[in-house]
Amino acid sequence: TLDNHPTGRHFLQIPGPSPVPDRILRAMSLPTIDHRGPEFAVLGRRVLEGIAQVFQTRHPVIIYPASGTGAWEAALANTLSPGDHVLMYETGHFATLWNRMATRLGLKTEFLGLPGIEGWRRGVQAHMIEERLRADREHAIKAVCVVHNETSTGVTSDIAAVRRAIDAAGHPALLMVDSISGLASADYRHDEWGVDVTVSGSQKGLMLPPGISFNAVSPRAIEASKTARLPKSFWAWDEIIEMNKGGYWPYTPNTNLLYGLAESCDMLLSPQHGGLPAVFARHQRWAAGVRAAVNAWGLDIQCADPAVYSPVLTGVMMPEGVDADAVRRVIYERFDCSLGTGLGKVKGRMFRIGHLGDCNDLTLVAAVAGCEMGLKLSGVKLAGSGVQAAMDYFASNAVRLAQLH
Ligand code: PLP
Repeated sequence: TLDNHPTGRHFLQIPGPSPVPDRILRAMSLPTIDHRGPEFAVLGRRVLEGIAQVFQTRHPVIIYPASGTGAWEAALANTLSPGDHVLMYETGHFATLWNRMATRLGLKTEFLGLPGIEGWRRGVQAHMIEERLRADREHAIKAVCVVHNETSTGVTSDIAAVRRAIDAAGHPALLMVDSISGLASADYRHDEWGVDVTVSGSQKGLMLPPGISFNAVSPRAIEASKTARLPKSFWAWDEIIEMNKGGYWPYTPNTNLLYGLAESCDMLLSPQHGGLPAVFARHQRWAAGVRAAVNAWGLDIQCADPAVYSPVLTGVMMPEGVDADAVRRVIYERFDCSLGTGLGKVKGRMFRIGHLGDCNDLTLVAAVAGCEMGLKLSGVKLAGSGVQAAMDYFASNAVRLAQLH
């Protein structure tokens, strides 16, 4: 057979970067302007106000021209001192990478979690954090770090429960949360949940290309940054917060991504489209449709606790002896659809279907069809049709499209 040039849109079904809507692509195509000029200040103030609403905070949000990993480092470097004891929780690959970063920065980390693969199938066990903090009578632990939406597994942890656990233990540790793949898809409330630093990134629920990332900070976190002694310069909050008051940054910001961010915030917050509650509801609905498909195939969902199923992505586990990456390759080569690979402990054992951002029922039915065909071509025995199950779910759980556009 002849190689066909791919036509139509590539199906970018990884859990971020997610597809960038045309409206945002157009907004980003505006000419780059003087980042010290008056026009820029209007844009700067607009994005700072908008993004704070997305984090559901009244406090500052720092925007970095960096990927999410940079914002992880910023959260730690601004609040902690060399040798500080940090309690991290192992939900999956990204929690593991953040833990490794903390160690490399000279922090003393403790990595809590359920043993083996079990911890990668469930959310943060808040009671374990509470017990550990109660035992820390001299308050040596300076921060608790957890991942909100673990992108490597498809599990969304209960952050309010982690805050309650810290409070129940009467412990002063800061609460730092990675919501890089949760923000603007899964419900997230920085202020209400008492989070001190929330880390996020542009390329997931915000529907932007990769390249900017965020620290939402509480007054307590800002207070801690005044005495924290880990080296920081580029990441230092103080100068950025000061310059942000006028709508500027101490260095050259990522102007065109900020145009995109302004557009993204307008789309996410628009009251006539239902605002954030509609955003969260549609992600839950898409996730339920995709899970209906996986259940119909008779395959296991990586997340073993329905209370913490991710609205952002679903991890699909392969039967024994099936290489998930080989299945992914067939789906990519035959149907031009990219799926997330298994990371770390689950490499080769599962793949991930992203259902976030600029999706709709039909793109997801098509993505599920690509998976179903690829699974069959790979010789995986399926119990039934996931495509039919997803269609049935979406058809019987209708939403008015006016709410989506
Ligand atoms: N944390 C989570 C939960 C993520 O999903 C990712 C990226 O996928 C990261 C951290 C790292 O972010 P980045 O790749 O933008 O540096």
